[in-house]
Amino acid sequence: MEKNLQTTTKITWCPGCTNSQILVAFRQAVGELIEGGKLKQENLVAFAGIGCHGKISDYINVNTFTSLHGRLISAMTGAKCANPKLTIVGFSGDGDSYDEGLEHLVHAAKRNSDVNLFVHDNRLFALTTGQFDAVSPKGFKGKSTPFGSIEEPLNPLLLMISAGATFVARTYAGDIEGTKKIMQAAIAHKGFSYVDIIQPCITFFDSRDYFKDAIYWIKDPFPTDDQRRAIEKVTEKIGGKIPLGIFYNVQKPTFEEELWK
Ligand code: SF4
Repeated sequence: MEKNLQTTTKITWCPGCTNSQILVAFRQAVGELIEGGKLKQENLVAFAGIGCHGKISDYINVNTFTSLHGRLISAMTGAKCANPKLTIVGFSGDGDSYDEGLEHLVHAAKRNSDVNLFVHDNRLFALTTGQFDAVSPKGFKGKSTPFGSIEEPLNPLLLMISAGATFVARTYAGDIEGTKKIMQAAIAHKGFSYVDIIQPCITFFDSRDYFKDAIYWIKDPFPTDDQRRAIEKVTEKIGGKIPLGIFYNVQKPTFEEELWK
């Protein structure tokens, strides 16, 4: 296989879509791990759900599996149970994992399945042209909420730490280097690795200017194995700033280890 993991499939995301930055980060992350002998390409399987993000499975030259809407996590964990030697990564969207597949997300985190989930979080249903979802901000105006959403958004990082995920991180698609490093750290972690990737949809909810000013990278003492401190960080509201980085990283027996005993 080509080292750069490219395919010949035409990319059909909107021109300039930030999904492309996630694609580049992933190719770089995995390419370096394979070149460095830390990952076997034949043992890597990438899963995708339904949504704009899901097209990524056509653009990476590795084993891939495209699931039903919101069901990629059950497919990922099933594959890992059947063959623990596999390295499993999953690409999902906020609609796919925080709405359609929320129950699978919570239970995979609770079980500490040894899989890696990267959520392309654009805070709306984009493929269906812009409806509000579980993480849309209050007041969001879209096709299904023309007068503005009246609900507070879900905090998925808080949910994941509470549910039992052992690696919890957030990054920004526009920072390809930062996203690459977080992906590599997630893959290196044994247990359920969850990464929320802020991925502005430039067609239906272009929030790039907002995030450019709002995001910042956290420093020591993170990542922490102190669940309470991690929760404090992912729920902090200081000047509207949004922290990026690895918040929580702890080692626990994985579901597959317990299963194969
Ligand atoms: Fe990207 Fe939004 Fe276009 Fe989907 S609709 S491809 S998320 S810019």
